[in-house]
Amino acid sequence: MGSIPARRATKQSNQFKVVTMVRTRFAPSPTGLLHMGGVRTALYAWAFARHNNGKFILRIENTDRERSTDAATQVILESLEWLGLNYDEGPYYQMKRLDRYKAVIDTLLGNGLAYYCYMSLEELNTLREQQRRHNEKPRYNGHWRPENAAKLNLKIQPGTQPVIRFRNPDSGVVQWRDLIKGNISFNNEELDDFVIARQDGTPTYNFCVVVDDWDMQITHVIRGDDHVNNTPKQINILRALGATVPQYAHLSTICSDDGQKLSKRSGAISVLQYRDEGYLPEAIINYLSRLGWSHGDDEIFSREQLIEWFDIDNVSGVPARFDPEKLLWINRHYLQHSVSSNIVGKVKEFISQLNVTIDDSIDINSLVDINKSRSGTIVELAENISMYYSPRKLEEKSLLLLKKEKTQDILRELKNKLSAISWEKETLDKLVRDISKEKQLKLSEVAIPLRLCLLGTQHSAPFDQVLVVLGKNIVLQRLDGYLSKD
Ligand code: GLU
Repeated sequence: MGSIPARRATKQSNQFKVVTMVRTRFAPSPTGLLHMGGVRTALYAWAFARHNNGKFILRIENTDRERSTDAATQVILESLEWLGLNYDEGPYYQMKRLDRYKAVIDTLLGNGLAYYCYMSLEELNTLREQQRRHNEKPRYNGHWRPENAAKLNLKIQPGTQPVIRFRNPDSGVVQWRDLIKGNISFNNEELDDFVIARQDGTPTYNFCVVVDDWDMQITHVIRGDDHVNNTPKQINILRALGATVPQYAHLSTICSDDGQKLSKRSGAISVLQYRDEGYLPEAIINYLSRLGWSHGDDEIFSREQLIEWFDIDNVSGVPARFDPEKLLWINRHYLQHSVSSNIVGKVKEFISQLNVTIDDSIDINSLVDINKSRSGTIVELAENISMYYSPRKLEEKSLLLLKKEKTQDILRELKNKLSAISWEKETLDKLVRDISKEKQLKLSEVAIPLRLCLLGTQHSAPFDQVLVVLGKNIVLQRLDGYLSKD
């Protein structure tokens, strides 16, 4: 982890600084799994930085000690690595920056922009109750602002641990031009003096984000629109610190295909689960890029094209619908167009999970070549390939078909003729066709029993390809296994 240059919290600190380089960040809280929504946020911040030759920073927001876990942090790191979302700085961990937050809080306390509040939880609840009864929005009333405390002659109850509150402006509006949502404004009257440090001294989320965005010189905050309500608070603190306010781009939510909240079926699962189900990172990147952003009608594009084209102007403000079928379609495309040698390692892993032994006499690269366009995921590809090494167990119906005298006759003919010819695709294809013609059968009446003997299924790549890849010995052996010996 690199160290961030500490800054003095003075009104002058950024006055003459012109930050031209784009700096974005992804700031996940390691409190659960990193699902497709989180990945899309990371992707857009990454793509925007890359498009602008800027920097992309990773920050782990782990101050929520109860809910943050190391395992969740590992999942975040592993997911970004798998997807190739490389960062230029970080990961920075908020828990390692507590001294810095404390120093900034001390400055705010010194400037009178923050103050200790000794209101107990019971008092706070009573206050909220009263406000509700008067149909007012529950909010802290500034009771412990120093001038009020003095006027009311408030006494600190022994043993009460204070929180620290930010002194929010009483009037005026906070507004910003959101790069996705347009102008947004909040009346300061709607905001109260929110807590920036808890009773145990730990700083709160809204405060740490501000100090981090400031110290890390973030120019564009790209995040989910569940944070819109936090933004006015964060802007007010930034202003109090004399910091430059970054630009904000709040991404609309992703909903499931029925318009409801994301469900497990629709992406609210760890992105690593997609990896484990045999999706390719390129497909996930391509799919998520289009989930709320567009470049004309382009559906399939490379990572390089994404970087070249990505622009916040073309990010939609409308909630995007997660479509698992489209994701699968894109994955199928990438699988079909992948270089077999690039995916063969992954295919082998999945085959071994199926407890099938890879026999070196059948070339796995050729198997990938002939099966990749027939599979939606690498898992499916591995299943399709595994039957070449270990044919599927035949269903009763298929067994009966193979035992019929007519089929036995076809199999005998196949075995005899195959044992006598040279092993080339065209010759093999012609041989099978000739047998069907001679016997006045449909081609499928020969090809189906052949496939059943060789792979245990009637659905596979074209039979000439199957024959070539299995090789003469294995083909004759497997045919022989189904020929009755009497
Ligand atoms: N840590 C916050 C989250 O995971 C994100 C904060 C931000 O992007 O400003 O939702």
